[in-house]
Amino acid sequence: MRRERKNRLIQEKIHDPYYEDKKYPEGVICSACGAIYKDGRWIWPTEEEKKKGLSGEKILCPACRRVRDNYPAGIVVLSGTYLAEHKEEILNLANNIIEEEKKRSPLKRLINIEEEDGKLIFNFTDDHLARRVGEAVGRAHKGKLEIKYSEGAKFASVSWHRDS
Ligand SMILES: [Zn+2]
Repeated sequence: MRRERKNRLIQEKIHDPYYEDKKYPEGVICSACGAIYKDGRWIWPTEEEKKKGLSGEKILCPACRRVRDNYPAGIVVLSGTYLAEHKEEILNLANNIIEEEKKRSPLKRLINIEEEDGKLIFNFTDDHLARRVGEAVGRAHKGKLEIKYSEGAKFASVSWHRDS
């Protein structure tokens, strides 16, 4: 990832415009993804709640704001010649985790996947999700895994590299 952009992200995080720990009024609904704020956290409504209809005030949840602004809390950069040969397999592994975590929490989501010079760059709304994806790739495919957390900021930079 471009160093300048990363530094800017870290700088901005000190002001924290997306802060996930912020308290929202009970019962508000995300107008983009439909998540609801209940008992102090963002969750997906149950089928029953959806059927009954939700009537809370509409706002954007922290994850949808990050998606809108393309402002990740965690990135995973995969690289190396091995990646090209196993790309589909690795993408499937990552996508399974992404689906699973998204079901568990509306705040754990993929923003996008970029391809750059043979690298795959995943941008996530959540630092732990980035870590989980990186660790899963490292476990299944060996290679060299590096996880860096920014001090005092909710940001994880994960890199994995393997040459054939
Ligand atoms: Zn949302």
